[in-house]
Amino acid sequence: MPERETTITINPGPEIQRSPLITRGGRTARRVTTLLTAAALAAACSSVLPDQNSSPTPRPPGVEQTHKPLPLVEDELNKLKNNPAINKNINVMSFSSLRSQYKDEDYTGVNNKDGIPNEISDYSSAPVLEITYDKDTQSFRFHDETPKGLPEQDFYNLLLPVENNIVLATAFKTGRLDRVAIRLNKIEPDPTLKGVDDYNGQYVIKDVSDSKKGIQQTVYLFLPGDNTLNTIDYKTLLIHEPLHALTSRESLSLSSPDVQPSTEDLTHWQEVCKDIRTIALDEAKTQTQDILEIMRENRHLFAESQVQTAFDEVYKALQHGDFNKLEPKTGDQKDDFTSKVPECGVIGPWSAFMRILTMKGIDITDSILVSDAKVALVDKMQQAWQDIMVKNIIFAALSEGTYTNAGSPGEGAGHPETDWDELIVSTTDILLNYPDTFAQTLQKLSDQERKVALQLVDVSVKTVDFQVPADEDAFHRELRKNYQRFKATMGQN
Ligand SMILES: [Zn+2]
Repeated sequence: MPERETTITINPGPEIQRSPLITRGGRTARRVTTLLTAAALAAACSSVLPDQNSSPTPRPPGVEQTHKPLPLVEDELNKLKNNPAINKNINVMSFSSLRSQYKDEDYTGVNNKDGIPNEISDYSSAPVLEITYDKDTQSFRFHDETPKGLPEQDFYNLLLPVENNIVLATAFKTGRLDRVAIRLNKIEPDPTLKGVDDYNGQYVIKDVSDSKKGIQQTVYLFLPGDNTLNTIDYKTLLIHEPLHALTSRESLSLSSPDVQPSTEDLTHWQEVCKDIRTIALDEAKTQTQDILEIMRENRHLFAESQVQTAFDEVYKALQHGDFNKLEPKTGDQKDDFTSKVPECGVIGPWSAFMRILTMKGIDITDSILVSDAKVALVDKMQQAWQDIMVKNIIFAALSEGTYTNAGSPGEGAGHPETDWDELIVSTTDILLNYPDTFAQTLQKLSDQERKVALQLVDVSVKTVDFQVPADEDAFHRELRKNYQRFKATMGQN
C-alpha cells in the first residue's frame, strides 16, 4: 500500500504531481512523507478501505436515491445569513466542533483503484458535505453527511463560496462534474507524519470510490484534520478544482490519458511553455548554491559507478547553468516525467537524476527506501528546489497564492510549474478573480517575462473559451469581462 507515498517520494511523475497538490499545504504533506521510512509508510496506509464488491449504478446528481429533491444551498444560506449567531467575517476556519462528532471508524481511505486518477490524495477522512447541482432548476443542492448535523457556523463557511460560483455551476452544467465531496481528514497522531492531515483538493474525472453512487466526476476537498484553513484558500479550491473539470476534455490534459494531443494545440503551448521554463531556469541559475552543497555532501551515498555518473551529470548541469538540457521535451521517449506537453512543467534535480537512471534502465527505488540517509536526501533536494521555484519571479506571478495571501506565492493554492493542467488552471483562476492585480504584477516584470506571460494569458483564455460550450453564457461573459479588464489595466486596449 505505500505506493502513493513512495511514488511521490522517489519518482514524482506528472500524474502524481498534478493530481492532489493544489495546495502548498498539500506540498507540505508531500514533503513530509519523504521523511518517512518504508515501515512508517506502510503503517500510514493501513486504514480500512471501503468495500468495492457491488457493481456501480449511476444516480442522477441532485437527487437522492429516494428521488426526494435535496435541499437548496441558497435556502440554507438565506436562513444562516439571517441568523445573528453566525459570524459573517470569518477569515480562518477550524473544524474542532465538527470533529467531535466523528468516531475513529468513521474515517476511511477513498479507494479509486479502478478510476482515473487511481490515487486520491487522502489517507483517512470522513464525509462532511456533498454539493450537487440540479440542472432542471439550475440550483446548487447539498447533502449533509455528518453524523449529527453540520454546526451552523461550519455550514455557513462551507456553503458561502458555492453561491454565485459561476465556474462551479458551469462545471456542473457542462456535465464535467457530478458532485463536490467535502471530507474531513483524520488527525494524524504520529508527529513524524505531520502535514499528511493538511487540507487538499483534487478533481477526479472517473471516481468509482463509492459503489452506491456509480461512476462520478468528483471534486474532492479534504478539510484539515488538525490545522486551520483560510476562508480564501477554501474559496480558491472551489474555483481551481472546477477549472480542472472544465479543462479536462482538452487533448493536452492529463485527465484524458487516452486522447492523443492535437498537433495544433500542442504547437501553441509548446512555444509559450518553453519560453516560460527558460526564463524560470535562467533565474534559478544564480540560486543553486544550497542544492549543490547538499549534492556534494551526499554524493558518497551512491557508490555504484553508473548511478554516481548520473548524479554527477545533474550536479554539473546545475553548476554550469545548463540544467535546462535535462528537462523533458516533446519528442523525448515517454517516461514517468513527461506529460502531454513536456515543456509545460519543470522537473527538479532529484527528478532529473531519477530520469537519467530510468533512461539507462536503472531502478534504485528499493535501495532508497531502506536508507534513511537517502530518503532524507530526497526530501532535502526536493525542498531546496521547491524553495527556488516558489520565489521564482515568473512562477510567483502565475501562482494563485501570490494573490490570495498578500504576496506570498508559497502559501495557498497554485503550482503552475507542475504541468499543463496546473499552468492553465492557475492562470485562468488568477485572471477570473484578480484581473487588475494580475496585470499590475505583470507590469513589474522584465519586458521578456511580461511578453511571455501575456502570450500565456492569451493562449489560456483561447483554450478555456474553446473548451467551455458556447451556450454557457454566464461563463463566457465572466471570462471576456475579466480578460478585457486585465488588458485595459495592462494598457493594451
Ligand atoms: Zn490543480
